[in-house]
Amino acid sequence: MDGAPSGASCVPLRDGVERAPANGTGILSCGCEETAPALAGAVFAFRQAGRAPSPPLDALKSAPVAHAAPAGRIVLVRLHVIDPTPIHTLARRLELPPVHERLLLRAWLLGHGLERFAATRGAPFSVSLMQALPELQVELDRLAMAAQQHASADGSRRLVIRLADGKTVESVWLARQAICISTQVGCAVGCSFCRTGMGGLERNLHAAEIAAQVVLARKHGHVTRRVVLMGMGEPIHNLEAVLQALELLGGEGQLGHKELVFSTVGDPRAFERLAAHHVRPSLALSLHTLDEGTRRELLPRAPRIEPRALLEGALRYCERITWPLLVQWTLLEGINDSPQQALELSEQLKGRRALVNYIPWNVVAGTKLARPAWERGVQLVRTLRAQGVLATLRRSGAQDVDGGCGQLRARTAPATAPVS
Ligand code: SF4
Repeated sequence: MDGAPSGASCVPLRDGVERAPANGTGILSCGCEETAPALAGAVFAFRQAGRAPSPPLDALKSAPVAHAAPAGRIVLVRLHVIDPTPIHTLARRLELPPVHERLLLRAWLLGHGLERFAATRGAPFSVSLMQALPELQVELDRLAMAAQQHASADGSRRLVIRLADGKTVESVWLARQAICISTQVGCAVGCSFCRTGMGGLERNLHAAEIAAQVVLARKHGHVTRRVVLMGMGEPIHNLEAVLQALELLGGEGQLGHKELVFSTVGDPRAFERLAAHHVRPSLALSLHTLDEGTRRELLPRAPRIEPRALLEGALRYCERITWPLLVQWTLLEGINDSPQQALELSEQLKGRRALVNYIPWNVVAGTKLARPAWERGVQLVRTLRAQGVLATLRRSGAQDVDGGCGQLRARTAPATAPVS
C-alpha cells in the first residue's frame, strides 16, 4: 500500500481506508499527493473536535475535506500516527480520555502552566498523568524559547526564538493584541525584497513549534487575539503543519478563525485546501504586481501562475468564507508604484470583497531596490479609493528593530536571554 502511485491505482474510499487506532491521533496518508493532505486534515479535524478517536468511515466520507479527493476516489491508504504536539504523544502513550487531552491542550495554548492548571481545576487526572506533567511542561517550553527581545519605539517587540534543535526564527509582538509568527526557518521563495528569502530554507516548523510562538507570547502577558502568519516562511510550503497549527490555535487556543491570517504568495490548490479545512483563516495574498514577468523576477520561486488568475482564486476563497481578501503590495520605487498600476488593480477589485494593503518596502541591505516616498503611497491609496476599492498604507511595526515586513531572519541567538 505504501507509496502507491496516484491516478491509476486509485480505489474507492471504502476499499482503501483504515480506522484510526483507539486513542491515536489519526492521520491518514497515502501515495497520492492530492488526497493524502485532505485526509490528514479530515482526520485531524475529527480528532480535535473530539467527535471520535476513531472516525467512522461514514463520517470521514462526509467530511468536507474528503471531497477534495479527485472524483471521490483515493489511492490505497495506509494509516500511521503523527503526533502534532507532545501532548498528543503523551495522550496516546497514557491512553488518556479525549477530554483530558483537550484540557491539557487548552491549558498549554492559553499560556497557563500545566501543573498549576491541574491543581486549580482539580481535574480528575490520573496519577500517571500528574507524574508526567513536569516533564511534559519542559518539553513544551523547549518548543519555542525566547532568546532575545528587541523593543521598538512603537511598542512592538521583535523576538528571536530558539527552537529545541538550536535553530532560530523570529516573531513580532504587535500592538492591538496581535502577533506575527513564522512557519519555516528561512524561506525557499527567495523574494528579492525580503531578508528571510536571501538565506534560503533551512527547515519547516512543526505544528507545535508554530503554535508555541503564540503560547510564548501569552505566557509573557502579551494578550493575543490575532495571529498573522507573515513572519519567516511561506505557509503553503509547510501546509500540513500550518493547517494543524491553525486547528490548534482556532480550537483549544480559542482564537477566532478570521483572526488567523494566512499570508501567502498564493496557489489555487492551497486555497482549495483551506476552503475545505475545518478552521478557515482569513487570507492575505502577497501579490505585489499584476505583471507576470515582474512577479517572476520579484518572487522567483513562487508558483508560476498568471497574477490575475491567482488573484481570482484568492477572491473566490474569500467569497466562500465571506471575509475580505487582504491584497498585499510591497511598494518598490519604479517597479510597482505607478498610478497606472493602481488603476489596473482597481479594475480587478471593483465590487469584490477586498482590501489593498500598500506596504512601502522596508529597507533590506544588499539589494538595489528603493523605497518610494510616503506621499507616493498616499497617492496610490487615493487612486484606488476613488475607484471604490478599499485601500490602506501600512506603516510596518518594529521597523526600527529590524522587525518590519521582510526584515526577519534566522539570527544567531545566545543560549539564554530571558524575556522580561
Ligand atoms: S516575502 Fe515571504 S515568501 Fe517571500 S521570501 Fe520573504 S518570507 Fe518567503
